Amino acid sequence: MTITKTNFVTHLESAIDGTHLPSGTIQTLHEGRPLWVRYDLDALAQSMSRDDLQSRPQSMWRYRELLPVVDDANIVSLDETMTPLMRCPRLGAKLGMKNLLIKDESRLPTGSFKARGMAMAISMAKELGITRVAAPTAGNAGGAMAAYAARAGMECYVFMPSDTPIVNRYEAALYGAKTYLIDGLINDCGRLVGEGKEAMGWFDLSTLKEPYRIEGKKTMGLELAEQMEWKLPDAILYPTGGGTGLIGMWKAFAELTALGWLEDPIKPRMYSCQSSGCAPISNAFEAGERFATAPDDPHTIASGLRVPVAVGDFMILDAVRASGGKALAAQEDTLIGWMNEACALEGIALCPESAACLGVLDHALKSGEIDPDETVVLFNTGAAQKYVEAMEVELPTLDHTKAIDWASIH
Ligand SMILES: *Cc1c(COP(=O)(O)O)cnc(C)c1O
Repeated sequence: MTITKTNFVTHLESAIDGTHLPSGTIQTLHEGRPLWVRYDLDALAQSMSRDDLQSRPQSMWRYRELLPVVDDANIVSLDETMTPLMRCPRLGAKLGMKNLLIKDESRLPTGSFKARGMAMAISMAKELGITRVAAPTAGNAGGAMAAYAARAGMECYVFMPSDTPIVNRYEAALYGAKTYLIDGLINDCGRLVGEGKEAMGWFDLSTLKEPYRIEGKKTMGLELAEQMEWKLPDAILYPTGGGTGLIGMWKAFAELTALGWLEDPIKPRMYSCQSSGCAPISNAFEAGERFATAPDDPHTIASGLRVPVAVGDFMILDAVRASGGKALAAQEDTLIGWMNEACALEGIALCPESAACLGVLDHALKSGEIDPDETVVLFNTGAAQKYVEAMEVELPTLDHTKAIDWASIH
């Protein structure tokens, strides 16, 4: 019998000062800042090639060797499908560009890309013997954590602002999480999760406060590269809250480069997109800062972007700058319009967070920041159906008992 090595993790590394910490044991932050998972990429490159992927299931777990789980038996899965990468000619024409693609993450379990991160974090929690988890959420993370915790048979506590979209409030409870509403913002919820740790004995799964959600979200970048036949696009637009999606994708591209799997060494310009209602990262970018400052009155219909304080702010800004991209904000009052355009022009259920990317893209095309001939990938991070509050639609009613005036129907 030949034993195939599937785990290449060497250690964890502090993102703020490079300190090495051991893997295989519970880790959180170092000096209050996140950790990277590091792999022996030379050994990985010798043990497999990118062509080995072709025969594997269409799932994030096809990148097994680039993921941290040691024992397959610990994988907690709801069958995370590879998400489609779709050409959007009508929406592209509306914007005046040729090559717009949307990667539709709304197809994942619980209707958002948060499934990738939570599948990984809950699998690692299981591997490390954790049985009770908690996290604050601005929306979709709570539902995803609750679903994966249910799948793993773990106890789960969710804390969210009381004005979180109604679908997010109910889905967490429906998946069996003990769900609490807080009269405050996501960072107030996060503080409670931290304070309750000792009394409640839970593990804190907050964005970037454990090392593995990034590794799950990294699979978006791996998948995109594979779907584009190992040639990356010119630009990627990504809605940014806590930042794990953008940071994870940038890490994916670095690892693929080290493995020698990319056709073309040029990496995409990463555009971190926010709303003018809550734009700490784009404000810091513009000011030339590496760390962000919390905005005074964070408000946006794109609930996933209502994150005034991001513990990985410098990781987002470093990635954006290293890529030659920018952190930009769309006007809050344009989001619903862009959401409607994308849904009606392409039939793609675009969430308001990704509508912010469309606002940024429109502006970037007009200013010359993005060229109309470039290939641009925009991520749809969640399903429009989860944002009932953002649907401003008045539907006319017809009286079927009376003769219809068909001339009035248009
Ligand atoms: C959480 C979330 C975001 C922000 O993602 P980060 O990786 O935390 O920056 C964007 N869109 C949706 C739909 C989300 O749920």
